[in-house]
Amino acid sequence: MSTKKFASHADVEEKRVTFEKLSEHAYAYTAEGDPNTGIVVGDDAVMVIDTQATPVMAQDVIRRIREVTDKPIRYVTMSHYHAVRVLGASAYRPEHVIASRDTYDLIVERGEADMRSEIERFPRLFRAVESIPGLTWPTLVFEKRLTLWLGKLQVEIMQLGRGHTKGDTVVWLPKDKVLFSGDLVEFDATPYTGDAYLTDWPATLDAIAALAPQKLVPGRGAALKDPGAVKAGLDGTRAFVTSMFDSVKSGVAAGKDLRAIYRDTYAALKPRFGHWVIFDHCLPFDVSRAYDEATAHIDPRVWTAQRDKEMWETLEG
Ligand SMILES: [Zn+2]
Repeated sequence: MSTKKFASHADVEEKRVTFEKLSEHAYAYTAEGDPNTGIVVGDDAVMVIDTQATPVMAQDVIRRIREVTDKPIRYVTMSHYHAVRVLGASAYRPEHVIASRDTYDLIVERGEADMRSEIERFPRLFRAVESIPGLTWPTLVFEKRLTLWLGKLQVEIMQLGRGHTKGDTVVWLPKDKVLFSGDLVEFDATPYTGDAYLTDWPATLDAIAALAPQKLVPGRGAALKDPGAVKAGLDGTRAFVTSMFDSVKSGVAAGKDLRAIYRDTYAALKPRFGHWVIFDHCLPFDVSRAYDEATAHIDPRVWTAQRDKEMWETLEG
């Protein structure tokens, strides 16, 4: 018998959506800690960054875009491959779906397993799950950096380093100084690190900070609308990632097993981070990956619906 409900099964309350203009070209669709969507309105076309989990859920994003522009939605950019962010893509009928080569490779390798796993983890976040036509495949794959002009608007699509996944992609508007970070940065929301490269993540946050964004749309949580808020988002994410990984590494060094390390890390992090959304959902996955990275596995192992449940029983049972 598990003491805690699996993953996000206890999370049933709908969130309130905020759709706000951040600059001449940038908008944020945020929902109190649910996965965010970014919108870039160029001279001749619109880009959506992360799509929502299902085509039916994406319709609410489209409705709000249509309140501010009638330009065609030509591009969808995937910040990374996770199902909860990308399986709504078909609703936008984009000409191109853009992803990094590393994200493409992850979809090939583990996209199917990830889709089944995530649908089981977050029932509320896959509203109208039957509207998903299958995996979202990129039509345009880049390595390291892609520059796109939406008319005169320069859009930089970049891999700054590994962190939340090996394929992490940010979208940067150099003129507006707005950055869309995907799950590399969270705000008042717990970073999910089940597929992460924890050793690399802080340097990737440094690379984001070096761009000096004035505004930043995190993967989850409110849009960060001034440099102080951006710094708070970067610092909070870094504090969580490093203190979680340090706790796990010291448990490994002391010869403790995974369950004991999980208990210790939960107790160490709960006072500072326990109020962040999805803390109880993420921490078992986060500690499992940290333990792997600190021991035998350079690359994250594939999560399947079955591995999810077995891990949960081991740590929470
Ligand atoms: Zn993610």
